[in-house]
Amino acid sequence: MRAMVRRGAREGLLRGTFGNVSVRVEGGLLITPTATDYLKLTAGDFVAVDLESGRASAGRPSSELPLHLAIYRALPSVQAIWHDHSPFAVAAGLVADQVPIFTGEGHGLIGRSLPVAPYLPSGSVALADAAARALAEAGAGACLLRNHGAVAVGPSLFAAYSCAIAVEEAAMHYLLTRDLHPAKLDDAEADAIRAAFAAYRMR
Ligand SMILES: [Zn+2]
Repeated sequence: MRAMVRRGAREGLLRGTFGNVSVRVEGGLLITPTATDYLKLTAGDFVAVDLESGRASAGRPSSELPLHLAIYRALPSVQAIWHDHSPFAVAAGLVADQVPIFTGEGHGLIGRSLPVAPYLPSGSVALADAAARALAEAGAGACLLRNHGAVAVGPSLFAAYSCAIAVEEAAMHYLLTRDLHPAKLDDAEADAIRAAFAAYRMR
């Protein structure tokens, strides 16, 4: 987990102390701590949290813990959550209610399109519920949070990280082409790709 988080920081998905990452474990989750430089994280810095009570056993979990709790509670298949404030994702969330997707990896990891949850205060239960609802209603692997960032989920941490990259790329493709009538796959093609990715089960 530490290696993946550091990789995300090196690749620019996690900048400064913005964003947070978690994995599901027996009875709860392990989440990045609040206000810590991701490049200096040690394995002992991750905070264990009970899923039912939402309480940390020790340490200070990310202030956006409610987002992670709501998603794990609502979506039992989710094994990892990657939340970042990557710039194209933020920008796309300002101008679209649904961000279209144009590539195979985008459809495979995210779905037909990328839903955008409304702005609500960071760290609030209301935002957490809105994000979980956006993911569940669209059956999507990711959603954007307006005026905030992106959330990507997956059956493993590597899958959630890959999905976060697909989100940032989808947002960039959208912003670069939205006035140019870009070619788009139809829903049947998108669904076929998503089913193929599910069968492949990225680990
Ligand atoms: Zn955030």
